[in-house]
Amino acid sequence: MSSELPPLREVITNYELRAKKSFGQNFLLDLNLTSKIARVPGDISDSIIYEVGPGPGGLTRGLLASGAKHVVAVEMDTRCIPALADISNHYNDRLTIQQGDALDMDEPALLGLVEGDVARIVSNLPYNVGTMLLVKWLTLEKWKPWYSSLTLMFQREVAERIVAKPGSKAYGRLSVLAQWRGKVKLALTVPAAAFTPPPKVNSAVIHFEPTEPIDASVKLKHLEYVVAKAFGQRRKMLRASLKGMGVDALILLETAGLNPTDRAETLSVADFVCLAKCYGQMLGGD
Ligand code: SAM
Repeated sequence: MSSELPPLREVITNYELRAKKSFGQNFLLDLNLTSKIARVPGDISDSIIYEVGPGPGGLTRGLLASGAKHVVAVEMDTRCIPALADISNHYNDRLTIQQGDALDMDEPALLGLVEGDVARIVSNLPYNVGTMLLVKWLTLEKWKPWYSSLTLMFQREVAERIVAKPGSKAYGRLSVLAQWRGKVKLALTVPAAAFTPPPKVNSAVIHFEPTEPIDASVKLKHLEYVVAKAFGQRRKMLRASLKGMGVDALILLETAGLNPTDRAETLSVADFVCLAKCYGQMLGGD
């Protein structure tokens, strides 16, 4: 290990990393906090960590200090790359940096995963693409996926939607997708004041572990479609919100054993899975 790394404020000044809104940049400079986030997945000494948006490297440093076997970080902002290279040198190349857009990454190839590797995603996600990335990772065709867990920071309101239970206002598409395919919990909340610059809202970290889905025979595209339709008009009764899907909404609901006057937010994840399965059967073919 080479000499001490400078405090993050100094890194930001030295490399002129003034936060840019266009990149969704709100940096965490408290290394105690980033180490706390890095500990959420548990022991990571056997894990290859994929981090999106390391910025000046606060969370990256937390992950490396917590003993991650290797960290692969994708950062879009070219200004951050030299600061990250210093961290890589300090940690004897346990950090690999890739400049680019995380939305375009083929992660297993980038991480060079081979049979038996344990991979985890840990990121303080840029707000502008955070939900898109989560959906990308939850809707992989191959399940179980290439990662063993997701530990992700979102705006608190988004985190609450991911973990929401039926009957709550926050319950929706993200809750059903996440809870269909795994176990998810809210791991910690982080006040806006912990960031530089502080965003308008508080943040929270969720931790997701993939499991076997509730019913693996359900086609993902059918589940996504019925969930989108049902929540597209969440205040309407299902008999109205599920119209125009190419099948009779009332017969679909009856087949699934659901009440046509119910609304989307009262359905459990298992109900949605059943609805998607019946929808697939009524459509026939694939
Ligand atoms: N991890 C750092 C921290 O906790 O202080 C920075 C988090 S900041 C909320 C989000 C980071 O994601 C920024 O560094 C930003 O430049 C980067 N970013 C934004 N869009 C990105 C994208 N599409 N792909 C990769 N990185 C992106």
